[in-house]
Amino acid sequence: MTDTFEAKGKRKKLVAELRQKGITDEEVLRAIDTVPRHMFMDPAFLSHAYVDKAFPITSGQTISQPYTVAVQSSLLRVKRRDKILEVGTGSGYQAAVLVAMGAKVYTIERFRELFLKAQRTLTSMGYSADFFYGDGYEGKPQYGPFDGIVITAAAPEVPEALLKQLKTGGRLVVPLGSSDNQVMTVVERTGPETFEYSQHGNFIFVPMLKGTVNGK
Ligand code: SAH
Repeated sequence: MTDTFEAKGKRKKLVAELRQKGITDEEVLRAIDTVPRHMFMDPAFLSHAYVDKAFPITSGQTISQPYTVAVQSSLLRVKRRDKILEVGTGSGYQAAVLVAMGAKVYTIERFRELFLKAQRTLTSMGYSADFFYGDGYEGKPQYGPFDGIVITAAAPEVPEALLKQLKTGGRLVVPLGSSDNQVMTVVERTGPETFEYSQHGNFIFVPMLKGTVNGK
């Protein structure tokens, strides 16, 4: 699959729509303008690639809504060469947006099938990231500490292990709450033992679950 003029045109419209919805981070908007979302979609939903909605992918999971990807990417305050850990690779779209913003991306997925597929997709498109099959609740301490950590699944509480993997000044972005409603939460590490919390609106994600799933 390749990028096309038609897809590029649809992305420009999507970016305009995201601006209207309040996204102001120019680096985030530029990344969304460049990453061909249609290449991350299930073939059944290909024609909806630039509709601002979440869509099903394999293993009962979803590709996040572009607005949600834009909000999470903005809240991370990514600078070029920042080390960012993503929990919940899914389709790999959010990871590609972060790579397009110049981040060094480490991403973990608990479904082996999705981990393999996302790795293939990004590699074939020339986006370089480090992919891991595993349980994101544990993070990747051996690659940390990170400038930012983004969880793209609904967490019932802040995973303690991940807070320890943040640099001082680093930010964890996580949708926190029950299965039917989460509050986008930023936890900033302000010192070795101090954390500041802020809230950024309501969202709905698939759940963050423990353990891994190997097989179809
Ligand atoms: N960032 C993705 C969104 C995927 S949906 C995208 O842009 O497409 C959330 C993903 O989180 C799912 O693929 C789900 O399997 C994964 N997930 C849930 N709990 C997890 C955990 N504990 N560790 C790693 N991945 C997890």
